[in-house]
Amino acid sequence: MSARAWKAVLDHLDEAAELAKLDGDVHRMLRTPRRLMEVSVPVRLDDGSVEVFTGWRVHHDTTRGPGKGGIRFHPDLDADEVKALAAMMTFKTALLDLPFGGAKGGVRCDPRRLSLNELERVTRRFTYEISPILGPEADIPAPDVNTDGRVMAWLMDTLSMVQGRTLPGSVTGKPLSIGGTRNHSGATSAGCLDCARAAFRELGMSLVGSRAVLQGFGKVGGPLAFLLSSAGMRVVAISDIGGAVYNEGGLDVGAVADHVAETGSVAGFGGGEPISADSIWDIECELLVPAALGGVIDTDVAERIRAQLIVEAANGPTRPEAQPVLDRRDIVVVPDILANAGGVTASYFEWAQAQQGYPWEDQVVAERLRQRMEHSFTAVWARAQTLGVGMRTAAHVVAVERVADAITARGLFP
Ligand code: GLU
Repeated sequence: MSARAWKAVLDHLDEAAELAKLDGDVHRMLRTPRRLMEVSVPVRLDDGSVEVFTGWRVHHDTTRGPGKGGIRFHPDLDADEVKALAAMMTFKTALLDLPFGGAKGGVRCDPRRLSLNELERVTRRFTYEISPILGPEADIPAPDVNTDGRVMAWLMDTLSMVQGRTLPGSVTGKPLSIGGTRNHSGATSAGCLDCARAAFRELGMSLVGSRAVLQGFGKVGGPLAFLLSSAGMRVVAISDIGGAVYNEGGLDVGAVADHVAETGSVAGFGGGEPISADSIWDIECELLVPAALGGVIDTDVAERIRAQLIVEAANGPTRPEAQPVLDRRDIVVVPDILANAGGVTASYFEWAQAQQGYPWEDQVVAERLRQRMEHSFTAVWARAQTLGVGMRTAAHVVAVERVADAITARGLFP
């Protein structure tokens, strides 16, 4: 899976490098991550046995600031995938003009098979192992697939215990009680809505009454379904790993969420027709949001999609070979490094508040988030028009230029 993810990142970088006429040395520097740390994570399970997991933390580029990026727990994770996700963070933070570089980390494990105590021990031992390269001015983790505020609290506590002082700026996506920011958990979804709204405006379409389809109903897809339906859209289909549901008149998102809370999946929800998770791609709609894992839109899926706009809430949902198919079919794509950047932008606000020791009001966070998303969307849209390319290419061009400017300004050590 993930050698493909890393290759996809390099393909996007190479294409952007050519269009931006990037200096060859800078281009080569960006083709390799700055550092990759692989650690062994031995953990005592509840039955008394010891299981040895593998974890990684990667700093792709830290020229523009400390490394920034999430921590994911997933049974299929490997070094190449973490490298790819770290590089995407370099481009995402540059695109949003946040003073960070790109990092990512995670542990190859299946959190569904771990008890809460085991999960805590995995988190704490992993954090301890990667702690030499973490810190508020070095690298700041955040939630990602299968991690949340509770995991971030364990991470922050472990780092703080190791260093002997409380470090609120060392992790983002923390609970409010230990220095988290308001609006963090819904920020990625809010940013996706901002992108959908801006794209509909540019395309001369109206959100109200339009149909949305969501692949994934987790941390991002869940809150986004609520936001889209409050914005007046009909959320006609939702899928997750258990199955999918469809209702042409629009699903009652609150009722779907209650059903998921009770049963663990959207499958079997009574307020819609059951369909297979895969048939989500065949549904006619104005907006399609892949909000789960990477690599799901291949060339076959790209031929089947019947949406006018795709907003990539997940990281890397579209395989590079599928993009030309979407282009040929005139399907507009708001790429991941823009569409899901609301999360890391809220992380930046959380980090800034922690470093200042001065929390901001709710509306300040929400308004600054909206402004950053709007501003970045406009920059990418304008560049796509000037270059005559799609938004994914344009987003990479804008991002790569910013990183390259920073590398040139700092020069090469020694
Ligand atoms: N995991 C999120 C992402 O992929 C957020 C990262 C962060 O806030 O550092 O963008």
